[in-house]
Amino acid sequence: MGLAAGAAGAAAGYALNHRRAEPAAETLLGAEAFARTNAGAWAKVFDALRTGVCVVDGYNEIAYANNGAGALGFKAGQSLHPDSLRGLADHVRATTAPRQVELELGDADAPTAVRIDIAPLPEDHVAVELTDITELHRVERVRRDFVANVGHELKTPVGALQLLSEALADAVDDPAAAARFTTRIQHESTRMARLVTELLELSRLQGAEPLPAPTTVWIDRVITEAIDRSRTAAGAKDISLVRTGRRGLAVSGSENQLATALGNLVGNAIAYSPEATTVTVDTALDGDTVRISIADEGIGIAAEDQRRIFERFYRADPARSRATGGTGLGLAIVKHIAGNHGGQVDVSSMPGKGATFTLALPSVAAQADRTAPHTGEIDAKVTED
Ligand code: ATP
Ligand code: MG
Repeated sequence: MGLAAGAAGAAAGYALNHRRAEPAAETLLGAEAFARTNAGAWAKVFDALRTGVCVVDGYNEIAYANNGAGALGFKAGQSLHPDSLRGLADHVRATTAPRQVELELGDADAPTAVRIDIAPLPEDHVAVELTDITELHRVERVRRDFVANVGHELKTPVGALQLLSEALADAVDDPAAAARFTTRIQHESTRMARLVTELLELSRLQGAEPLPAPTTVWIDRVITEAIDRSRTAAGAKDISLVRTGRRGLAVSGSENQLATALGNLVGNAIAYSPEATTVTVDTALDGDTVRISIADEGIGIAAEDQRRIFERFYRADPARSRATGGTGLGLAIVKHIAGNHGGQVDVSSMPGKGATFTLALPSVAAQADRTAPHTGEIDAKVTED
């Protein structure tokens, strides 16, 4: 029964398709008739599409444009624009072969990249299909840059390792020089290992692996962990690590990831500060938002760099950061972790006067007023209820 109905439907569809090629049916595509017959159901169907659809008549006037086309600046009653598109429409009419082109439309500062397909219709009309590919282009560009950057970043330590191992081979009779080269080899290989670890971490955070199931994470524990991890680096520069603000705050997510994010921020605060300064980790509850800020008294970040430091591989001062062993991935990782937790990370800084990074995360409100546990045992009990 269902099959029979389906077959009948298909046959009717075939008959319709077939009839469309006949001259009597073609007149329906005259601009006026088109507007009349499509005023109802078809217009709704086309308006529901994200893709822009236009029908353009033989004078290059737009006879019909759906909402998607309107959003890209193509409206019924207008002439087809720009000139290059009119030329292409004429070409399609003359050759009756469909054509595709990619154009940048709109604002010159923030253009919209659009893929345009033009197909011939009867009576000198053409169908114009418009697809916004701005985001696709952006993603492609980011991917291209990323691969180029990874290549470049790996080239530096690999090149150094090659030179150093040659130097080491030549220094067999000079133990002091050999020891120096060995230390440098260790330094470069550590840097490379760190780069690879961070790249893998970033790819995991960007969704290559599923996120762990969220648990209640006590901020005090995460901060203690991050501070503990950074104690050696801080001690080496005589930097004091100070903890202030509200205790007992909790968020929902991955303790591991949040510890990595905070560790990166505290690590930066130490790396980009002179000796004998203070790094302060403060916590506050602002409505439903937990704010964790890490403030240092270091070199600070110029306004034009502040926007870019969260990009992968971006370093405000590549020479200095290379000296600290930095790869420029730390803040990109922090940004992803913040995003994965429904939060964000911001910076405020004055060059020479230090920087403050703030991680804002949605709080687990019901838990916020409880006392934070300090041992794994109590924590396990809390996550159970
Ligand atoms: P790594 O990936 O090893 O952390 P990195 O520290 O160079 O390397 P990010 O942590 O992403 O990379 O930081 C990017 C850049 O932002 C740094 O190179 C530095 O120029 C600047 N920066 C980050 N934190 C601070 C800070 N607290 N004070 C001053 N500059 C900072
Ligand atoms: Mg860093």
